[in-house]
Amino acid sequence: MKRFMDALANKLPMLVDTTLRDGEQTAGVVFSNREKLRIARMLDNLGVHQIEAGIPVMGGDEKEVIKEMVSYKLQASIMAWNRANIEDIKHSIDCGVDAVAISISTSDIHINHKLKTTREWVLENMTKAVKYAREQGFYISVNAEDASRTDMDFLVQFANEARAAGADRLRFCDTIGVLEPFKTHKLITELIEKTGMDIEMHTHNDFGMATANALAGLQAGAKFIGVTINGLGERAGNAALEEVAMALKHLFGVNLGMQTRDFRNLCEYVARASGRQLYPAKPIVGTNTFAHESGIHADGVLKHPETYEIFKPEEVGLERQIVIGKHSGSKAIKMKFVEYGIDLSDEEAADLLESVRSVTVDLKRTLFDKELMYIYEDYLYEKKIAASIEDSGNNKG
Ligand code: MN
Repeated sequence: MKRFMDALANKLPMLVDTTLRDGEQTAGVVFSNREKLRIARMLDNLGVHQIEAGIPVMGGDEKEVIKEMVSYKLQASIMAWNRANIEDIKHSIDCGVDAVAISISTSDIHINHKLKTTREWVLENMTKAVKYAREQGFYISVNAEDASRTDMDFLVQFANEARAAGADRLRFCDTIGVLEPFKTHKLITELIEKTGMDIEMHTHNDFGMATANALAGLQAGAKFIGVTINGLGERAGNAALEEVAMALKHLFGVNLGMQTRDFRNLCEYVARASGRQLYPAKPIVGTNTFAHESGIHADGVLKHPETYEIFKPEEVGLERQIVIGKHSGSKAIKMKFVEYGIDLSDEEAADLLESVRSVTVDLKRTLFDKELMYIYEDYLYEKKIAASIEDSGNNKG
């Protein structure tokens, strides 16, 4: 909890990871208890500020795991998710968490068609739940579900009443992912102007803009960003922790002091635990993010990495790969052979490049190092045959 309190006091942007709550809510994803606890430890080592651990009212394993996590006394704050009712919050009290999220819909479409109730009922229940949680001494995030489709005047009223009841922040949920960065900036600016409340961005990736929207909210003054590892989350997912953290560091100059070298490991672990493969082009941690095939790119990177890389691969636990394929150039081929202790002449490299191009077109893919060695072996063999034919020709002559 210490990290959370320090960052709060220093007014630093904070990352709230909800892999274990929104992430696990993804259709078809279930984490085992062991995996949940491991992920929590990894997130804490990485340096996130708050971990949304789950939903205590579900009982059973869900509740036991949260209790166990609390017993670890992590640097991060442990938050439990609740609907806006006292029964839910009682289960969170049992778990010993230091923070609660209290969630209720604020848009008319949700109020009319899902809750089948009125705005007044929403305000009343939110207020009751927040007051109760306040008496228990929790740090409180009030979640405005479907905030992005909520009438602004009502959202302002909701936020102000939440604050009066004792809430510490408002989670602005783009529940169905309909925002874009410019609109996000405008909405969050207005909301902060009219309420003065601490805002957490909770964005979804339905149009591929979860990370961009979260960062636009931050630029408009939001202090918290809700994230998940690999962007795991309902439907198209949430803003990805690794994307937000690295964008903050390299595009915004905000270094949260995270152990970013752990990203690849953590992302791979969660990919396996969630049964969702880490796709090769996944920003920040995908296998392809530091793979160069094109002759021009490979040559540039070998001369000076910053020509085609925004940060060092080691920074996120990856390695640079020079991939040999159709678009490779002879410099990359020479470099590849140096890895195997073979110093090719320019002529040999040019000959090999020709074979490499024809083989990769046949196979419709890049080559494994071993395949490259086979091409080299074949090349040497052919050269030897050619030489011996020439030789025997000379002898006869
Ligand atoms: Mn969500």
